[in-house]
Amino acid sequence: MPELPEVELTCRRLERELTGKRIERVMVRAPKLRFPIPQELHALLTGRTIRSVGRRGKYLLFDCETGWLIVHLGMTGFLRLLPGTTPPGRHDHLDIVFDDGAVLRFHDPRKFGTVVWTTDLPATHPLLAAIGPEPLTAAVDGAYLFRVSRTRRVAVKQLLMNAAIVAGVGNIYANEALFRAGISPDRPASSLSRPECERLAHTVREVLQESIDQGSTYRVEEETVAYHPLDFDVYGRGKDACTRCGGALKEIRLGNRSTVFCPRCQT
Ligand SMILES: [Zn+2]
Repeated sequence: MPELPEVELTCRRLERELTGKRIERVMVRAPKLRFPIPQELHALLTGRTIRSVGRRGKYLLFDCETGWLIVHLGMTGFLRLLPGTTPPGRHDHLDIVFDDGAVLRFHDPRKFGTVVWTTDLPATHPLLAAIGPEPLTAAVDGAYLFRVSRTRRVAVKQLLMNAAIVAGVGNIYANEALFRAGISPDRPASSLSRPECERLAHTVREVLQESIDQGSTYRVEEETVAYHPLDFDVYGRGKDACTRCGGALKEIRLGNRSTVFCPRCQT
């Protein structure tokens, strides 16, 4: 599943590829995603120019002059710019065709993605209004994490993965950030000290930024979406040894998500 770094990289790529392009027509092939793709997109978008592509949490925001197209990639969604002559495949649900012949194609085998239209500011849209501050900005610092964790007894990993608290930190990066901070993922959030919150705010930003800098790969290969995240210390390594102390890592379930940590290095 694409997490914040992959969505950020998608955003930067599309911003580069699409800004200034004029929309000639829109084809909705399979409207049944998480929410139906609006059939009126053709009428709404024809003749409009894409002014910018932005991101809020894991949502992509396309400024189309008269409103915004809000897209969430879900589990397997992928957006790519292709030559207009490329025949669509089975899981290509939406085409936005530009007047230069190129086509922006939305591919999503598992159909958990979202495509909606709004003429209001995206920040006020029901899907986005409750999203917490962005972890790559200074808004998520030690003081913030300390403040929001005081009254919450939920496991710290679940706090990090709550989008209303911090935008877009998924399972992979929550595991990694807690390992680097030396904090056990099942600790009650309210038990964190102020220095631990400082450390955690720092490692959350660090693991996300490293993944962006190194170009975490998420792409369509042979009609399936291939996801090759970078090498991690703990995520997906429940049977391996700790990269820091050499001891056995431990895998548990927290909030029904796989959670891997080192019982010696993380307390
Ligand atoms: Zn260890």
